[in-house]
Amino acid sequence: MKPGLDLIDTHCHLDAVEFAADRDQLVAQSLAAGVSTLVVPAVTAPGFAQTRQMAQLYPCCRIALGLHPIYIQSHLPQHLSWLRAQLAQGGVVAVGEIGLDGFVPGLDMAAQEVLFVAQLQLAAEFDLPVLLHIRKAQDLILKHVRRIRVKGGIAHAFNGSRQQADEFIKLGFRLGFGGAMTFDRARRIRELAATLPLQALVLETDAPDMAPAWAYRQRNSPVHLPRIASVLAELRQMTLADVAAATSANARELLGLSAPA
Ligand SMILES: [Zn+2]
Repeated sequence: MKPGLDLIDTHCHLDAVEFAADRDQLVAQSLAAGVSTLVVPAVTAPGFAQTRQMAQLYPCCRIALGLHPIYIQSHLPQHLSWLRAQLAQGGVVAVGEIGLDGFVPGLDMAAQEVLFVAQLQLAAEFDLPVLLHIRKAQDLILKHVRRIRVKGGIAHAFNGSRQQADEFIKLGFRLGFGGAMTFDRARRIRELAATLPLQALVLETDAPDMAPAWAYRQRNSPVHLPRIASVLAELRQMTLADVAAATSANARELLGLSAPA
């Protein structure tokens, strides 16, 4: 690992098919670049085994299991019981990726809410934090997490308002910042990244999606995390080392991760 740097990618779909050909090299490159831990969230129940495999293959990976709202049409009722059985088995740092998507047309919001609530209840039952996917649904998500109290979590790729950010923080959530903050035109996200309390921030790539400005329209990967962290450091007028230490401590505390050996 790069001396002095110890970054955590709190949201990386390393199990995605986009990484099938060069996953080993990418993990090695990420470690060499100073990314000590990758948190890999699942998106569907048939994919749970593949997600778990990431933690078996790569000691730097930690996994979360959950049913992603984008795939609402393919989740079956029994997938919730699969999830429950998997959580009971252990080896999982969070329930995720779960949430609500009001952006993609044609996704049944009522069905998404039922699934989301059921997964919040599982997170509460197993005393796990949650990794939240939120698109055009900030207030709706807040309504549910106010009602069903979980052990905090991460509002991944946060793009809400300052007021919504403050509400999440009050409820024990951290906010995930990544590629979006590297675009000059993303004024509101950059303003939030610069001014929110540092204790509330964690870093992420959302690889293979949400590539940073310098890799626009390319496949994103955790190798970009150090440069994404530098953007946050610049926005906050801090050193990269301080940003890395603070955001990694935030992620470790929330997800119960141990420090690297
Ligand atoms: Zn994701």
